[in-house]
Amino acid sequence: MSVLITGGAGFIGSHLVDHLLAETDDRIVVLDDFSTGSAANLTHLETDRLETVDGDVRDDSLVADLVADSDVVYHLAAAVGVKTIVEHPLASMRTNLKGTENVLEAAAEDATPTFIASSSEVYGKSEAVPFAEDDDRVYGPTTAPRWGYATAKAADEFLALGHHAEHDLPVVVGRYFNIVGPRQSGQYGMVIPTFVEQALAGEDLTVYGDGTQTRSFTHVAEAVSITHELLTTPDAHGEVFNVGAPGPTSINDLATRVIELTNSDSGVTHVPFAEAYSEDFEEPDEREPDVSKLRDVLGRTPTVDLDRILR
Ligand code: NAD
Repeated sequence: MSVLITGGAGFIGSHLVDHLLAETDDRIVVLDDFSTGSAANLTHLETDRLETVDGDVRDDSLVADLVADSDVVYHLAAAVGVKTIVEHPLASMRTNLKGTENVLEAAAEDATPTFIASSSEVYGKSEAVPFAEDDDRVYGPTTAPRWGYATAKAADEFLALGHHAEHDLPVVVGRYFNIVGPRQSGQYGMVIPTFVEQALAGEDLTVYGDGTQTRSFTHVAEAVSITHELLTTPDAHGEVFNVGAPGPTSINDLATRVIELTNSDSGVTHVPFAEAYSEDFEEPDEREPDVSKLRDVLGRTPTVDLDRILR
């Protein structure tokens, strides 16, 4: 089979490339503009089964051509990272809306099975923890730029489900929850790589807010294997799934574990959210997936615990 991965030079995308090369005989085409992704994420792969196209997912004719040549599509390309989306809300939303529409429209031509990467951010500041896929309080628009990302991802989901309803497109939406692991950079505000880099440099770890907010961390290898399995499971088509591990950790506890595991002398500095990125920056207190739907359909959920992830 020929597989197209948009955003395949990124963190999750490059692990999906690894996974598919190891587990299948598929030929893989990566479409990436290398804005946050890097060719270095793919250089360890010496294979003629991988081709990289340097291009923009907003380019509809390029996307149409690549999708037409593919049997399966994983759409992961997006403007990501709190820093990027707070500083460039409009450009981020354009990439995330137009890119997804291009992919879905092209895939609908031949009913090409398609995975759409969404985010736990669509739950916004919902307090109905753990978050379940059918929670009708999924976030709507606000004035805070951060939530433009969440709104675009929510719109992407509706576009995907609309293509399933109207064109019978075999599509699966995966809401990723704090996926972490090798190759993730701290450059775009991701907490674990940032903490590890600070601890190894002997600097104080920067905790935004009081640090009691909780997050659930999922190892990237499990996230990509679940992504692959969801798209190859017909019962999953036309559905939305949380892709994340149960068992949240507070950011304070995460900082302590990182300091212990790196044998660092670092301390912790608490910084008000308002000083983090912008005055109207906001964070949900808790974020944990309800994994029962994933368990029902795939018979499994992520299992790698935080200590193993950090090591
Ligand atoms: P990443 O930045 O490493 O990957 C995104 C990739 O998309 C990069 O390689 C980037 O260069 C590429 N890209 C961006 N704009 C593009 C464009 N216009 N055209 C072509 N390529 C473009 O981030 P990631 O963490 O691997 O995220 C992958 C997907 O998963 C994204 O859709 C993201 O929204 C989603 N997601 C990730 C997480 C997480 O915890 N990492 C959580 C929720 C959702």
